[in-house]
Amino acid sequence: MAWYTERYLYSGQCGLCRKNVVSQFATGNPRTQYCLDCWWSDKWDPLSYGRAYDPNRLFFDQFHELELAVPYACTTNDTVLLNSDYTHQTGHSKNCYLVFHTSLCEDCYYGYGVKKSRNCMDVHYCHESELCYECVDVLGCYGLTWCQDCQNCSESRFLRDCIGCSECILCIGLRNKKHCFLNEQLTPEEYRQRCAEAQTGSYSMSQAMMAKYRELQLRHHWKCLQTEMTEDSTGNYLYRARDAQHCFDCSDIEHSRYCSQLQLGTRFCHDIFQFGIEIELCYDSLSIGYNSYDLAFCVTCMESAARLRYCMYCFGVSDCFGCVQLRHRKFCILNKQYTENEYHSLRTQIIAKMTADKEYGEFFPMQHCASGYNESTAQWWYPKTKDDAMANGWPWEDNLPRTEGKETLDNLHDRIDEVPDDVTGKVLRCEKCARNFKIIAQELAFYRLRSIPVPRRCFDCRRMDRFHLRNPRKLWGRACAKCGKSMETSYSPERPETVYCEECYLKEVY
Ligand SMILES: [Zn+2]
Ligand SMILES: [Zn+2]
Ligand SMILES: [Zn+2]
Repeated sequence: MAWYTERYLYSGQCGLCRKNVVSQFATGNPRTQYCLDCWWSDKWDPLSYGRAYDPNRLFFDQFHELELAVPYACTTNDTVLLNSDYTHQTGHSKNCYLVFHTSLCEDCYYGYGVKKSRNCMDVHYCHESELCYECVDVLGCYGLTWCQDCQNCSESRFLRDCIGCSECILCIGLRNKKHCFLNEQLTPEEYRQRCAEAQTGSYSMSQAMMAKYRELQLRHHWKCLQTEMTEDSTGNYLYRARDAQHCFDCSDIEHSRYCSQLQLGTRFCHDIFQFGIEIELCYDSLSIGYNSYDLAFCVTCMESAARLRYCMYCFGVSDCFGCVQLRHRKFCILNKQYTENEYHSLRTQIIAKMTADKEYGEFFPMQHCASGYNESTAQWWYPKTKDDAMANGWPWEDNLPRTEGKETLDNLHDRIDEVPDDVTGKVLRCEKCARNFKIIAQELAFYRLRSIPVPRRCFDCRRMDRFHLRNPRKLWGRACAKCGKSMETSYSPERPETVYCEECYLKEVY
């Protein structure tokens, strides 16, 4: 995860056409970057950076020199992106802004893990949904605001753990209900009256309802794990899994261990972070997918990638070792082209030397990471201080993007219908971290349409708030609060929630 960034964007310049770009690299990072048009063009050749392997030096040192030299794309996005410059780790999307780890979306803003969705804002793991706001783990939903763990729900606010519900407010654990408020069935007339009170777009009202929502959650009983259709598997947020051990946020996965964030087809994989879509026999890699096979120790390799070792940012590449930023190549080592026979004999020689040096079988050293530890996804899951990172020799970025003290608006109106149009020209101040932030025009239109107050926190604080709404990627042994049976759960034993085994939970809910 220390090799993966999906949180900060900087301004930079294309090293080829000189146009200004939105960049994944902080100012001062020594790596050259090209705009997406230049990077994906034939105007440059990654093989021109190729070098001969030196058997008298450590492989990782030689690889690191190559990795530093070959130009990166300014952001890791595919070229099927329209009007979506301010994105990273994103593809096949249109009119998106500040979304990360996102694909097949349109008009989505401030999101993480958004797939096949439209008009969603401030969402985290939001799939096949529309007009959702401040939602976490929603699937097939429409018009939800402040909801979590919901499927096939619509036009509702403050729902958690609901399926098939519509026009409900402040409800937990409901199935196929309509017009409920605080888990109570109302008549349509009663509901409409409560709804009018609840949906004024007032910030103070929404805060009061949020407090009520949190209190309700403490009285609810929770399912030990979020899993569906799993067989002989352990993990959480696991769907359609067979023999998957210790896997989190995965679906359609078989015979795999220690994987996270893999969707749509994974078989026989170990230690993979991100993203799947048909991968098989892969090991100790991240950000790999799209029909890829037999990859080990790779970063961001995809599109029918096959039989790669120690490669980074390779697309449609097979049978390569220690290569970076290649497209559609075969039999290369350290970005140098070989014949098939030469390739195999040199590969064998390098593996023998790396084994003797205790390098082979290990991932790239973290000291060589392309970004600061604090810029990477590792900092979300395993936060470290600068001192910790420096003691290990890991890179650290001192100048994270941030503006402070430039605010031009101190007091926001309480209700969205009182907020004037010119708010989009103002600079706001985050109530939590004091960072300055802005409201974009599309965002204001969304808040007005959906009667949602303007947020008081910056985009980054909002994202981390949503991140912390989910349980950690850990499992604990705990006794079911109903039947006493021992079970595995993502709720640590000291947490106040009441947790049921799957059997007891299903009896209560349906
Ligand atoms: Zn360019
Ligand atoms: Zn903030
Ligand atoms: Zn039980």
